[in-house]
Amino acid sequence: MAAANSAELSLNLKPGSKTTSAPSSPAKSRESLLQRVQSLTGQARDQGASILGAAVSSASRVTSSVSSGRHLTLMVIDDQNTDWSKYYRGKKIGDYDIRVEQAEFKEINVTANSDGANVSMVVYRGGTRVGRSFRPDFLLVRQNLKDAGENYKKLLLAFKFGDVPSINNINAIYNFQDKPWVFGHMVQLQRILGKDSFPLIDQTFYPDHREMITAPRFPVVLKIGHAHGGLGKVKVDNQNDFQDIASVVAVSKTYCTVEPYIDSKYDIHVQKIGNNYKAFMRKSISGCWKTNTGSAMLEQITMPDRYKSWIDRVSDFFGGLEICALEVVVGKDGREYIIEVNDSALTLLGDSQEEDRRHIADLVVAKMNASCRPRSPPFDEAAQPPPVGPRGILGSLTSLTSTHSNESTTTQPPEHPPLSGVGRRDSQVSQSSTISSGPPSSVRLPEPPPRPGFQRQGSQSQAVSEDSEDTMKNLRKTFAGIFGDM
Ligand code: ATP
Repeated sequence: MAAANSAELSLNLKPGSKTTSAPSSPAKSRESLLQRVQSLTGQARDQGASILGAAVSSASRVTSSVSSGRHLTLMVIDDQNTDWSKYYRGKKIGDYDIRVEQAEFKEINVTANSDGANVSMVVYRGGTRVGRSFRPDFLLVRQNLKDAGENYKKLLLAFKFGDVPSINNINAIYNFQDKPWVFGHMVQLQRILGKDSFPLIDQTFYPDHREMITAPRFPVVLKIGHAHGGLGKVKVDNQNDFQDIASVVAVSKTYCTVEPYIDSKYDIHVQKIGNNYKAFMRKSISGCWKTNTGSAMLEQITMPDRYKSWIDRVSDFFGGLEICALEVVVGKDGREYIIEVNDSALTLLGDSQEEDRRHIADLVVAKMNASCRPRSPPFDEAAQPPPVGPRGILGSLTSLTSTHSNESTTTQPPEHPPLSGVGRRDSQVSQSSTISSGPPSSVRLPEPPPRPGFQRQGSQSQAVSEDSEDTMKNLRKTFAGIFGDM
């Protein structure tokens, strides 16, 4: 393809980027399959208006759920480049609406007990500070739990502790915290299927720099720690460079892997969202050996049976990944090398992203139908059990004096980026908005095979309902005590 055309048909990717927007109108020329995708940075800028829109729609979501009072809460872990609420409009679980709460891992905190999980979040939407607290009925994880310099394992533990059903399921997300752990599973799978049937790249694992003497042959690709978007990946051409990078590994305080560098024609991205499968060919046009960095051309291709079989086997091997993607590098000689698998935080590509998000939403609704059941008769919102932990108690107290404290905070400019560990004042704001915006209530349906947690959840929720009057009385009493002290 001519260079001039290439610029028109490029996929510009920034390290660390996960979400890329589809172009507003697909190319209809000879290269109609090649899709031009904006850079994340550009996209973030261009989508300023949509982010603002998301803030407004987020506020209206709360209002509508207050008025109806019948909803289940879906917590979506994702950034604001995608407004997930629009994919759930009009969708119901029984008679209940789905209320979407969307935030990044860094914007939330989660506490849990045997009754469930409680999320407190402080987010900035269009310059507005919004605090909320709620009990999620379902979780959709679209952000990597771990990335360069980030690790939100503690939040995953809380969701697990609270037995929150999730896509991908919490155990699967736990399994994807370390790439060598994932790769180790793939090696096991290759032993079962055979090298020809499952062409996994050869990889060597080093727990630290000490054994990193040399590589069998060069060039190699060295992958340090657990990071995405091409971060921590270095092409090493010779022994001297290998020693240099080993010295960097020495101070990185993490493991690394080494694999042969494949002089590639292109990459293949094989994606599974429930029963929907897609394959894309990705080719660098900016000269970077990493096709997920810099500019690249993207083309959706028909899915050969072997790709479908690979991704199905991988999904099954991890206990049934609802959403996953395989990365395959295709060498100049046409040989295919499976290099990695990604989970539900996978990057959606090209024009079909919109369709993919709808598939994800459908999958989530189907799973919510299977695992969540609205309480009948509708739950009295005032009888909401207090959230666990001191943050929850304080929040509930605040709510007794002000049901509009959320508004008072919404005018605050974003002084600092929100942190995962929100302070006490923030938690009060969050909790007060919980009460005023009416958190959902639900019990989980028993799933086949029956899970004791679900039955326990149901019976305990009933008990909590009956006890809630006492709880509120106690809270009022405690609050009076604190207020008197002031
Ligand atoms: P992701 O965001 O998908 O998790 P990542 O940071 O894990 O990406 P990889 O997918 O391992 O990184 O590699 C990034 C890119 O580098 C690949 O898409 C591919 O183009 C290139 N690449 C990775 N390993 C090799 C290799 N062994 N030989 C040639 N190219 C490679």
